[in-house]
Amino acid sequence: MANVYCKYCGYKSSTIAALTSQSCTKHPNGNNKGRHVLYEGSEKLQYNCKYCGHKSPTISTLTSQPCTKHPNGNNKGRHEPAL
Ligand SMILES: [Zn+2]
Ligand SMILES: [Zn+2]
Repeated sequence: MANVYCKYCGYKSSTIAALTSQSCTKHPNGNNKGRHVLYEGSEKLQYNCKYCGHKSPTISTLTSQPCTKHPNGNNKGRHEPAL
């Protein structure tokens, strides 16, 4: 089975169980205020933000930047990869 990724921070793991057992530094509730959440899309060469279309080669670089079209407001959240 392919690697699995957190949709908030791009953390990579080999199993969903291992992924979701650890806290996420980029969780929308705050640093380590929640666990990694599975990115349910497939591995891609390039990831697009589902809110603004920003492109990045990895989930971790995409989600490291704030999103100007985030539903919580301009730069009130990070880019989130489209499936
Ligand atoms: Zn995470
Ligand atoms: Zn965005």
